[in-house]
Formats: sequence, structure tokens, C-alpha cells
Amino acid sequence: MANIGYIQVVRHCNHFCGFCSNPTTPYTHDFASMKVLVDDFVERGYFGVILTGGEPTLHPELPKIARYATECGLHVRMITNGWRLSDRKFAKALAEAGLQLVHISIYSIDPEVEAKLRGVEGTLDKAFAAIDNAAEFGIEVNINCVINKLNATHLDANIRYFLRRHPHIRHFVWNNLDPSMGRAEVNQDQFTPRLADFELSLYRALRLLHRSGRSFRVEKVPLCYMTDFAWASTETRKIVKGEERIVHFLDAKQTVRQTDWGHIYSDACQVCSLREICGGLFDRGNAYDPGELYPVFVERDAVVQKIISDPADPSYKLRTLAAWRQDFEARLQQARALPSRPDDEMPPAEMRVQGNLQVGKVTERGQKLYTAKRRSESRKADKLGVKMEHGAKQ
Ligand code: SF4
Repeated sequence: MANIGYIQVVRHCNHFCGFCSNPTTPYTHDFASMKVLVDDFVERGYFGVILTGGEPTLHPELPKIARYATECGLHVRMITNGWRLSDRKFAKALAEAGLQLVHISIYSIDPEVEAKLRGVEGTLDKAFAAIDNAAEFGIEVNINCVINKLNATHLDANIRYFLRRHPHIRHFVWNNLDPSMGRAEVNQDQFTPRLADFELSLYRALRLLHRSGRSFRVEKVPLCYMTDFAWASTETRKIVKGEERIVHFLDAKQTVRQTDWGHIYSDACQVCSLREICGGLFDRGNAYDPGELYPVFVERDAVVQKIISDPADPSYKLRTLAAWRQDFEARLQQARALPSRPDDEMPPAEMRVQGNLQVGKVTERGQKLYTAKRRSESRKADKLGVKMEHGAKQ
């Protein structure tokens, strides 16, 4: 199984999105503390690592840790807003350090919408320059997009733009907004979409990509809102293949190991043919309405077949439906034997990894930087009309 781990290398950022779910903390990493986490992924036999944040390019030792992870045999990726990658020299340094794939996040190709979502002007040009630089130095580019209230109606227009202007981009990822943490939690009214708001434009976007031979994944969208492309759901693929994900959060959550991909289900889900392979409604913040879920009656095994026969994951072994069903049934029985989890615990107890791994640290210098950053972010929040997250010290 192609397990990929996440390391948040910093938690500050040069943008200020009103729906950020991982805002600034006083925790910091140095090379030594990141190396321990890379070594752990190697020991677990992970395929790769995703360096993320905050904005990971703001860590001064990013090329060094990318090089180390590459030398350890991991496939090294990064999620970035592209601002620093618009500098050719920096892009070249990361390519030479072994960075193989970069997810550049762009929410809207409308500059006004993008500026409103980013809290900063001029980000689109930088992100486009980052796309070109990455391509020039041989780093594969994927586009990441958080689905939110402001871009919900033009996800397909974004795709038409990329197909026309950046045809070399072959893979796209959507994440529906996670309204449970950070500024996303306190600014739900401004940014959390209704599922119905984006259903049509997401469908058009996926259809365009499918017809053009591109690949894509969609995260945190219930399958009833992407039935024709259910096989592209990140949660469904992980449920089907029994994959896990480890995220090293640079905050008090520390390490979270996720093996269960189901979230909230409604009464409608009980009669739905996709219930067993659907992640349901991702919402710990009561921002989405479970009343928007509706059962679908499509063949579950047709979705499964498409996933298990995907040649893009050569490490997956159970290629026949019979072999898959046997394995899946055993996993279902194991899951049913587990005690039910309280809804309000985040992360749930069984996802917390106990052990010697310490994720970053809070130093006196880190605390000072955090306090200064919070002050400047608080001013930005006032100017932009968004709220600061709970517990933010100002
Ligand atoms: S009704 Fe429930 S189980 Fe069925 S696709 Fe929608 S969220 Fe998933």
C-alpha cells in the first residue's frame, strides 16, 4: 500500500486565508527534529513524505530536509502557495535537493476572489510563476484547491483556464473545506459552502479533466455529491485499499495516525449502496447539513473494481474483486469490534500516537516569534473582516 506521511515543517505563513485550518503556533522544527520524523516514515516502510505547513517554503532548512528524505528513499512532495517558488533560484535548489512533486494551491483564477481568499494581493501571478519554475526544473506540478463558498460556482472555470494555459499539469486535487479547526471554525459563515453550492461546478470540472485524460482526487466530499467519479474520492480509495495516513502536526495534537476514514452519516446513508466505502460528511464543526446527504443506488463493486485495478498504484496487491472482498470483510469485522468514538473528541484517542516521537518544540525564541506574528495577524484579520481562531494569543 502506498502510504504517505505528512510533516508540518512550519506553522506560519506569508498568506492569511480566512479559512486556514492550521494557523500559526509557537512550535518550531529544526533539521534534527524533522529528521527523526523522516526516519520514522522510513522505518514504517512508507512510500513518501509530504512537507507542508503553514507555508513550508518559509523553513530555512527545507532543501536540507528534502535532500535527506530523498536520500532515505522517500518520494518527496510539498504543498505550497507558490509564493517563494516563484523565485527561479529557490525552485532550482529544491529540485536539486530531490523534490519530485509540488502541490501548488490555487483557489480561484479570478484575481479578486483569490485575493479575498488569500488575504494578500498578487498571489496568482506568483503561483503561475511557481508552476513555470517547477516545470522548468523537472518538478511535477499538481494543483490543489480548497472548495469554499467563494469559489464553489466556478471550479470548472478554473479547470478550463489550466487546460488552456498550463496544459502540462496532469493532476488536480480538491479538498472540501474543513470547518472544524483554526480560522475555518470561527469563520464558517463566510467560507463554508453548502454541498449543493458546488455540486454542479465540481461535476463539470471532473468531467472536463476526465475527458482530457487528466487524473484527479477529491477529499472530504460525500460520494452522493460526486457519484459518477466516486473512485476519485481520497477517503473511498483509502477505505477500499485499507491505507493509513500519519500527520505530524506542529501543535499540541502532535502525531495523528488515521486508519478510519468514515465521518458523519445521516439516516439516508443506511440505505445507500455506497455506505461501506463512503467517508460520509466530514464535519466536526456542525457547519454542513447532514440533511443534504441522499442515498445513491449505484453498484459498489464497480467503484471498487476501478480503484483496485488502477495501474497508478503498482504497490496495491489485491487485484481481483474476490480477493478484495475477503480482505475488506475482515477489516469491517475488526472495525465493528471497536468501541464507538465520542463525536467531539479531536483527534480521537485511538488516533493519537504514543511514543518517543516529539514533533517540534516550543522554545523561548519560538514563543517570541509567535507572539509577534499573532499581533500582525490580528491586525490583518481586523482589516479583512475575518475572526482569529479560538485560543489565539494577541
Ligand atoms: S448517502 Fe451517505 S453513504 Fe451514501 S453517498 Fe451520501 S454520504 Fe455517502
